[in-house]
Amino acid sequence: STPSERYEYQAEVSRLMDLIVNSLYSNKEVFLRELISNASDALDKLRFLGVTEPELLKDAIDFDIRIQADKDNGVISITDTGIGMTRQELVDCLGTIAQSGTAKFLKALKDSKDAAGDNNLIGQFGVGFYSAFLVSDKVTVSTKSPKSDKQYVWEGEANASSYTIREETDPEKLIPRGTRLTLHLKRDDKGFAHPERIEKLVKNYSQFVSFPIYTWQEKGYTKEVEVDEDPAEAKKDEEDGKTEKKKKTKTVVERYWDWELINETQPIWLRNPKEVTKEDYNEFYKKTFNEYLEPLASSHFTTEGEVEFRSILYVPAFAPTGKDDIINPKTKNIRLYVKRVFISDDFDGELFPRYLSFVKGVVDSNDLPLNVSREILQESRVVRIMRKRLVRKAFDMILGISMSDNRGDYEKFWENFGKHLKLGCIEDRENHKRIAPLLRFFSSQSEEQLISLDEYVENMKPDQKDIYYIAADSVNSAKNTPFLERLAEKDLEVLFLVDPIDEVAIQNLKSYKEKNFVDISKEDLDLGDKNEEREKEMKQEFGQTCDWIKKHLGDKVASVQISNRLSSSPCVLVSGKFGWSANMERLMKAQSM
Ligand code: ADP
Ligand code: MG
Repeated sequence: STPSERYEYQAEVSRLMDLIVNSLYSNKEVFLRELISNASDALDKLRFLGVTEPELLKDAIDFDIRIQADKDNGVISITDTGIGMTRQELVDCLGTIAQSGTAKFLKALKDSKDAAGDNNLIGQFGVGFYSAFLVSDKVTVSTKSPKSDKQYVWEGEANASSYTIREETDPEKLIPRGTRLTLHLKRDDKGFAHPERIEKLVKNYSQFVSFPIYTWQEKGYTKEVEVDEDPAEAKKDEEDGKTEKKKKTKTVVERYWDWELINETQPIWLRNPKEVTKEDYNEFYKKTFNEYLEPLASSHFTTEGEVEFRSILYVPAFAPTGKDDIINPKTKNIRLYVKRVFISDDFDGELFPRYLSFVKGVVDSNDLPLNVSREILQESRVVRIMRKRLVRKAFDMILGISMSDNRGDYEKFWENFGKHLKLGCIEDRENHKRIAPLLRFFSSQSEEQLISLDEYVENMKPDQKDIYYIAADSVNSAKNTPFLERLAEKDLEVLFLVDPIDEVAIQNLKSYKEKNFVDISKEDLDLGDKNEEREKEMKQEFGQTCDWIKKHLGDKVASVQISNRLSSSPCVLVSGKFGWSANMERLMKAQSM
């Protein structure tokens, strides 16, 4: 055989391995989920590449995953017929951490100070391939890429800082294509090498894998076999002169081993929504998006007509942390399939506008070419129609949360994604009608609980024409502004726009149900109670005082005027009709610093 070559792990891998071996104890069983997910990814990759490079599929081999457990020796092997790895890929993929999932794990680990958090994290992120070392002393990866005519064996041990690669020469061990992982279990973990245990774990963790998963299982069937007469009885018969031999039958169990299919391979989105439970949807969500928490809502639908596709969409329970997320539409949140083949999750606003990029889900279409490229996606009429429908469905789903009996659900949604919808007011004029009813604000009459614009409108006075608002940096400063005085006296409700983006969002909306939004701090506020007689009198009485003040303040103010807007405060600073509000001014200042 050819000699093995030894390689050092990249420093991060060593660190991770060390952690796995020494501190991540509970939750070990996720190793199987991680390895099956890699097998499934490898099959996906091959199926995808096979579309444009059919020669990769020249050997007609089924796409599947087979798991064999040898309990006597404490060995598990997991074999897939996927894309495999070349020698270089073995070095790149299994000796370094370049992959997002594992890198994310390491980062989260670094951020989490508490050691008990580690086990939670492994459940959330998984540690990919290296989770094999949660249960194994030694792991071998024998793999054959359809791009190479050679099969290679990677071998690594727990607690080692290096691994080896050699060519496979044993004809008994050659595989036509794909990867076989062999796990030599640690002494205390040999219990995993039982077919029943494996089956249970697959059902628990990998039920939504869309390739068949088989386990090697002992089976039995009963059959009737003829047995010879018991010799003693035969002798007696003979003595009795009975010459004819009696035939006897007996039921025996015939044992044999065979592959048994243990998962359902029809993707959940192809199933009839009536037959899928909420738990199924939530499980699928958690498995597919590596999520820890249940989603706030889901929606499973099929569209017909011009463009046909099936989809399941979800609203996550939490917005990802990190301040860039709101403007980063590249979230890998939407997985696009064409005729069941996974195509891509790498979108940049093609299927959802960026303000809705928090929506997660799968979309499966029969109307796109399998080899769809980014350019095609961007120019496709089909995609444009899909996008429109998806956006509509996403809004229906969010509206559903807002109408739920449980007010807390929508509060949670609003806390996490309210900003996104406000961004939508600015960026998506076309959907103003859908966004506006979903907005929430505090108001002069509801300082503790957020209200909707519908609630505001319902509470309007019979002769009130406009929706009043004031922008401020907090509810407290909004409720103490002198601008409120007159409106409070007339019992008019005023929305408090306390999030910096609120004012811009409202200005983009302009109106709601034909009622204009009016900033109560602007100089021309008309409450419909002008008394010209009295204004004239006031002008005569205080005109000179105004001139005097203006002279003294000079350029600091544009003008000094008599106002009918105050009831107890003597004066107030207001913005010009076309000028920035004080709040906006504050914002601009903050941004330029
Ligand atoms: P991730 O799955 O997040 O990429 P992993 O640590 O699980 O990270 O796997 C690392 C890489 O090793 C994969 O991206 C893939 O390139 C390669 N790999 C792992 N298992 C297989 C497999 N069964 N077949 C082909 N490639 C694999
Ligand atoms: Mg993986």
